[in-house]
Amino acid sequence: MELKHTKITVMGLAKTGVASARFLAQQGAQITATDMRDETALAGVLTELAGLGIRFVLGHHDQADFTATDLVVVSPGVPQEHPLLLKATEAGVAVASEIELASRFITAPLVAITGTNGKTTTTTLVGELFQANGFSTYVGGNIGDPLIDLPASGETVERVAAEISSFQLEWIEQFKPRVAALLNITEDHLDRYHGYQEYINAKLRIFENQTADDFAVVNRDDELVWQAAQSLKAQLFPFSRRHELAEGIFCREAELVFRHNGLEQTFPTAGFKLQGVHNQENIMAALACCLLLGCQRDASLELLNRFEALHHRMEFVREVAGVRYFEDSKATNVGSVAKALESFENITLIAGGKDKGGSYAPLAELVQQRVRHLVLIGEATERMQQELGTCTATHRAKTLEEAVQLSARLTAPGGVVLLSPACSSFDMFKDYEERAQRFIAAVKGL
Ligand code: ADP
Repeated sequence: MELKHTKITVMGLAKTGVASARFLAQQGAQITATDMRDETALAGVLTELAGLGIRFVLGHHDQADFTATDLVVVSPGVPQEHPLLLKATEAGVAVASEIELASRFITAPLVAITGTNGKTTTTTLVGELFQANGFSTYVGGNIGDPLIDLPASGETVERVAAEISSFQLEWIEQFKPRVAALLNITEDHLDRYHGYQEYINAKLRIFENQTADDFAVVNRDDELVWQAAQSLKAQLFPFSRRHELAEGIFCREAELVFRHNGLEQTFPTAGFKLQGVHNQENIMAALACCLLLGCQRDASLELLNRFEALHHRMEFVREVAGVRYFEDSKATNVGSVAKALESFENITLIAGGKDKGGSYAPLAELVQQRVRHLVLIGEATERMQQELGTCTATHRAKTLEEAVQLSARLTAPGGVVLLSPACSSFDMFKDYEERAQRFIAAVKGL
């Protein structure tokens, strides 16, 4: 891709926009960087990008920057049907996401991981597995640093592990992972998509440019994923907790079995640090991606026996008066909360936050079976009350601290207090990490 003297508009100056603008300017492209936030809000960004010859249009967008340019690089935060993106495509201007741009400059085999839940855990694990097998590896995308930072650094690596969100897949054209993994699909982000099908379609685009030389690692046990997988061009490599597979990776009693081209390798699970059935799926997916790209059994098993869960994903906080407290602040949709509820009994569940437009009804049965008390917080309180209120005793709290204290009074010894919100955090907190820290502090204060 020729960048020198190419006119490029970078729309949205968050992390990926800034990284893209910097890389493209360094390559000699003529950059216009535009964002609805003004100079004051973006003072830090202006300093960061100073001296690169970038033209800034801040506080508003100019239509001409979208129609009289060669390329628009768009931030994943911008909705796909933004009127100026429509203008750009009508004018024949190419629109690309940052991962599309980055992939044109990345030469190392790329593993791309998507799914509603488990992306970060699986991508991190893939990165660690490659490293444990002696491959120099870049881990990035929706986790950590943008992919474009790799070509920008000028460094070469042997493998790339990329966490990919549905938003990043909206504007791809040639993005072609050597191995693409789809972990699961359940409802999420309905505040951004017109219905569930549109979200599913965005996720499936991860396979769009793959050919028969590439691999599609897919969840055999997720009906939606498995159905969609039947029409892919890449070689299917399923993972399953329930089915024995002739080609793929699956659970057999206390081991995982990897079968490929008639050869079998087994991995005893007894020493794994990652717990829970959902993590077994994440481990199978990660192992598949890495073994297909040259990793060996012994080094991989050794890594699996020391890889620990990431923070804010069903993390044990403390036991007080016979009650165990778990923090699962990263559970921002019904699919992830379902896995948390499946892991415990006698639960006092603290849930709620910013509503993302999906239904909470898929949780009704699990709430009825396992949740003794439901303590609701945040903007989603009314809707959760309507959809889950008949399943168990329901309570309301104004703050997270109040919710923790109330839960402590409600929960009998032997029970579990679980923060697993099924919502994003932005109504009451800066992000899910702040929500987690406030919960941990409140639990420590009991
Ligand atoms: P993501 O990056 O997709 O948000 P994470 O690894 O950060 O995924 O986990 C997010 C939430 O989903 C946590 O609550 C975690 O316990 C849960 N989770 C992790 N893996 C899975 C999975 N395979 N299926 C369902 N839920 C999962």
